[in-house]
Amino acid sequence: MTKSEQLFAESLNHIPGGVNSPVRAFRGVGGQPFFAQRAEGARVWDVDGNEFIDYVGTWGPAILGHAHPAIIEAVKAAADRGTSFGIPSEPEVRMAQLVKDCVPSVEKVRMVNSGTEACMSAIRVARGFTDRPKIIKFDGCYHGHADSLLVKAGSGALTCGNPDSGGVPAEFTAHTIVLPFNDRDAVEQAFAVNAGQVAGIILEPVPGNAGVYLPREGYLEFLREITTTNGSLLIFDEVMTGFRVSLGGVQERFGITPDLSCFGKIIGGGLPVGAFGGRADVMDVLAPDGPVYQAGTLSGNPLAMAAGLAALEVLKNGTVHEQLEAKGDRLEAGLNAAAEKAGIPVITQRAGSMSCLFFAEQPVHNLADAMQADRERFKKYFHGMLAEGVYLAPSAFEAAFLSAAHTDADIDATIAAAENVMETL
Ligand SMILES: *Cc1c(COP(=O)(O)O)cnc(C)c1O
Repeated sequence: MTKSEQLFAESLNHIPGGVNSPVRAFRGVGGQPFFAQRAEGARVWDVDGNEFIDYVGTWGPAILGHAHPAIIEAVKAAADRGTSFGIPSEPEVRMAQLVKDCVPSVEKVRMVNSGTEACMSAIRVARGFTDRPKIIKFDGCYHGHADSLLVKAGSGALTCGNPDSGGVPAEFTAHTIVLPFNDRDAVEQAFAVNAGQVAGIILEPVPGNAGVYLPREGYLEFLREITTTNGSLLIFDEVMTGFRVSLGGVQERFGITPDLSCFGKIIGGGLPVGAFGGRADVMDVLAPDGPVYQAGTLSGNPLAMAAGLAALEVLKNGTVHEQLEAKGDRLEAGLNAAAEKAGIPVITQRAGSMSCLFFAEQPVHNLADAMQADRERFKKYFHGMLAEGVYLAPSAFEAAFLSAAHTDADIDATIAAAENVMETL
C-alpha cells in the first residue's frame, strides 16, 4: 500500500467519502486521490514522493503558481500581528480599493469566505434591491452550493450523480429558472412568462464548470440588454474567471458591465476568500445601511486579506496575463497536434489560461453539447497523464489552469506526455 492509499483508507473512516469536497474523491475518473505533501510553483508532490506538473492549481486560485514568495511572506507577516480581529482593519480597505481598481464595474464590495457565499449573497442583494423573487441561471453553470442555486450545477454535481442535490426541498428552488446557455429565445421566453418577477440573471460569463465554453457572439450583450429592459440585474459569477481571463475578468475581456459580480479563488491568493460587489446603489441595500442581511465572523480576515492583496498586486503590476495568453496558445496547439497525430478527435476550448479538452467532434456551446463528449476516453486520458506526471482535474467537466509558474519546458513536457497517452486511447 502506498502512503496515499493508507491515508485515504483512514480518511474514509472519518470524513464522508474521505474528502472535504466531492470532486477530490476521483469518482469522475475512478481510482483514489493522492494525498498532497507540498506544492511549489507549477508542481505538487504527494506523500509518496511523486512529482506532478499541476494543471488544477488548487482549482483556480494558484494563478501565480503554488507558494508564491510574495504571498507566503505577506501571510507570515500578517500572522505575527494576529489571525483575526472581528473589527475593521486597514487591509480590508486596501483590498476593496484594489478590487475596484481591477474591476471598474465594482463601486462597492463586501468580502466573504468563499465563492459560494459570494453568489448566495449576490442573489439575495438582487432580490432585495428589485423586490422580486425569481433568478435565472443556466444549466452547467456552478455558483457554489447554496440551496437555491444547486440546480443543474456542473462538474461535481454531474459526476457525483446528483445534478439536483438531495436535501433541497423543491420549494427552495421554486424561484430558480434554469435555461440552456447560449440560447437567446429561452431567455426571452422566460422574461415573457415571468414578467415583473425576475430579480436577475446569474451566469458564469465564460462557463468553466461543465468544461469550458464561450458565449456566442453578442450573447453577453443580449443578456445585458434584456436585463436592463426588464429592470432585472445582471450578475456575473467571476469566481473562476475573475483576475484570470484578464485582470478585470470576462467583463473586461468582452467589454460588458454587469450590475453585480462575484469573486473567489484568485482573490484569496490560496486562502478562503470570496467577494461580491457592483453598483453602489444596489450594494447599499445591505445591512447595516439597508434591509438585506449578510454577515461573517471571519469575513475580511487579516491573513486572507494579506494573501489576496499580495496576489492581486503581483497580477496588477506585472505582465502575467500576457504571458499566460502565450502559454495557453502553446499548450492548446501542442495538445491539438498530439491528438491529430494519434487520430483522436478532440475539441479544445479556451479563454486565456483557462482551457478544456473535450473528447468530442463538435464544438461545445452548452451543457448538452458537453455531455456528448466521450467520458470513458477522458478517464483513460486522465490516468495516463497522471502516470506520466501530469495532474489534470479528475473530471471531464473541469477546466485546466495554467499559472505564471508553468515554463515552456513544463508545457512541452505536458505535450510530450499527451502524445504518449493519446497513442493508447
Ligand atoms: C468555484 C466556484 C464557485 C464556488 O466557490 P467556492 O469557493 O468553492 O465556494 C462559484 N462559482 C464559480 C463559477 C466557481 O467556479
